[in-house]
Amino acid sequence: MKAASEALVPRAPASHTGLREGWQRLARNRLAVVGLVVLALLGGLALLAPLLPLLPLADPNATDPSNRLLRPFADSAHLLGTDALGRDLLSRLIWGLRVSLAVGIAATLVAAVIGSLIGLLAAWFGRWTDMALMRGIDVVMAFPYLLLALAIVAVLGPGLLNALFAIAIVNIPFFARAVRGSTLSLIERDFIEAARKSGYSHARILFSELLPNVLPVIIITMSTTLGWMILETAGLSFLGLGAQPPQADLGSMLGEGRRLLMNAPHVAALPGLAILVLVVAINLVGDGLRDLLDPRLRSGALSRPLAATASDAPAERAAAGGEALVAHACQQPLLGVRQLRTHFLAGQRTLRAVDDVSFDIAPGAALGIVGESGSGKSVTALSMLGLVATPPGRIVGGRIDYHGGGQGAVDLVGTPLARLQAIRGNRIAYIFQDPQTTLNPLMRIGDQVAETVWQHRGCSWQQARARALELLEEVRIPDAAHRMRAWPHELSGGQRQRVVIAMALANEPDLLIADEPTTALDVTTQAQVLDLLDALRRRHNAALLFISHDFAVVAQLCDQVQVMYAGRIVEAGPAAELFATPRHPYTERLLACVPELGQPERVMEAIPGLPPAVDDLPPGCAFAPRCHLATEACQSAPIALQAIAPGRLVRCIRHAEVGRG
Ligand code: ADP
Ligand code: MG
Repeated sequence: MKAASEALVPRAPASHTGLREGWQRLARNRLAVVGLVVLALLGGLALLAPLLPLLPLADPNATDPSNRLLRPFADSAHLLGTDALGRDLLSRLIWGLRVSLAVGIAATLVAAVIGSLIGLLAAWFGRWTDMALMRGIDVVMAFPYLLLALAIVAVLGPGLLNALFAIAIVNIPFFARAVRGSTLSLIERDFIEAARKSGYSHARILFSELLPNVLPVIIITMSTTLGWMILETAGLSFLGLGAQPPQADLGSMLGEGRRLLMNAPHVAALPGLAILVLVVAINLVGDGLRDLLDPRLRSGALSRPLAATASDAPAERAAAGGEALVAHACQQPLLGVRQLRTHFLAGQRTLRAVDDVSFDIAPGAALGIVGESGSGKSVTALSMLGLVATPPGRIVGGRIDYHGGGQGAVDLVGTPLARLQAIRGNRIAYIFQDPQTTLNPLMRIGDQVAETVWQHRGCSWQQARARALELLEEVRIPDAAHRMRAWPHELSGGQRQRVVIAMALANEPDLLIADEPTTALDVTTQAQVLDLLDALRRRHNAALLFISHDFAVVAQLCDQVQVMYAGRIVEAGPAAELFATPRHPYTERLLACVPELGQPERVMEAIPGLPPAVDDLPPGCAFAPRCHLATEACQSAPIALQAIAPGRLVRCIRHAEVGRG
């Protein structure tokens, strides 16, 4: 089993599709595209400025006192009018734009190179180097930075080049801090440790291992500070400390126009507008770039999912249905799942994580779902309570009828959020894999259990706490009355998972969903927690949907089992029968991977090959490429789930040959 799951190595995307996807993602961000277009136009104008005398455009510095302060569009020779000395404003704007952009970009590059170097060196060498460099950075940051820039220019003397240095210096700390932070988190990684142990030189590690990994951080910081730097340059020029007359830059033009604001507002308004448009465009592109480069944003980890999984309208979901054979049909189900399809829409790709899954759970029964990791077990379970993240997840087909709660059947797909929330944690409770991340680290465990009771019962806080104590005693937390005041980090992993079980049972749910609840625990604790879970669920008469990749555990807890592969049920039946006589080659091979006590000479064979990607499933049986029984018929057309005996379903046309050799 272990070998089988180890075989699941993620596939590396081809790099050219990565680039194309990047462009597509940037193109989907409308504002970034607008910013890019504006920036390209302005940048093009600035680049072409030296060629402008070829066009009928005036010299930016040629004065013409007889044509002072012309209004825009008043004279065809001066499209945007003239300033107090009769200089052509359009021409000065274009030249000014060029200067402002050049200074902004140059200052950004200087700050990025020096700041990143400081950050890298401080993080890598640590100790005294870190101390000296970062305290220096702290000193720079201790001053309001425009004031510092003014002071630097005051020392160096006014002028564009000195303004550039001043702006670059005051921005160095932003790069140094960002790069130091991300380098520190990289240094602990094994690949850097490996490089160090292989005897690479400091320079090689810094520039060929660390730098490429922090480059996205540097680029993001550059894109977000460029706009600032242009504003700061304009500020210094506005105060007369940057560009010196007659040279135009946007800030100095604004400064010159300031005195004429009453008589000729356009002289100041035009460069002001140009600065505004330029900086907004740069920031929009910067934001787009950040979304593109930040791996957390790219994976969608920072995008907040909806409160419930989105679903298609009932009619569309019904239309999308396929076969209706139901694994574990029962007369009076508690939960009836029909043709459930949960897909992930990732860019152009559709991941069919769960495709056409149907089963019933009877009141008080226990159903196990097994399969390799990535087979769709968790997504099936999460779909029950609308917990699949949207975006990118979406329920595109099927229904989930919940018959509990004494209110007749409710289709949990597409049910109003308030209704779903009344069921979540109350009638249907979910136990997640890792109790460490489920519990709030800053809340005492007694309060966390009491909150679950209080939320759904409408009782007093005192009553809720009394019930919490009962529950903690029931899950055998030693000295529960005292432990009510413990923080989650003060408990062992097994105890934390017991607390989570107590929370799940708090409101006497009809159904407990447990998604690999003991994978994070050691074997002995695992057995204790599972025994407890089983005993309590029986005592409270709750049904159980239990997910695991461990057959032994499922056999111990569940009456019915279904095996999933690539988002579909491939075999289903009563647990004992299914394990004794598997009828699908996949189940057979999975069982062959389970070690047995007292059978040291049994050969365990890993299943060759990898599960298919669920966005690119073969037309026939998804397991055929790894199956020793596969024939051409298996690969050409979809294989239906068929009943081979009462209560036994299998999705294999050669099921009769399974287990014969
Ligand atoms: P498991 O059987 O190990 O619990 P899951 O149900 O978690 O597998 O995942 C099934 C498939 O759905 C996998 O191929 C996985 O890549 C995909 N998947 C799960 N969550 C997401 C997500 N948030 N975005 C995109 N794909 C996902
Ligand atoms: Mg899972």
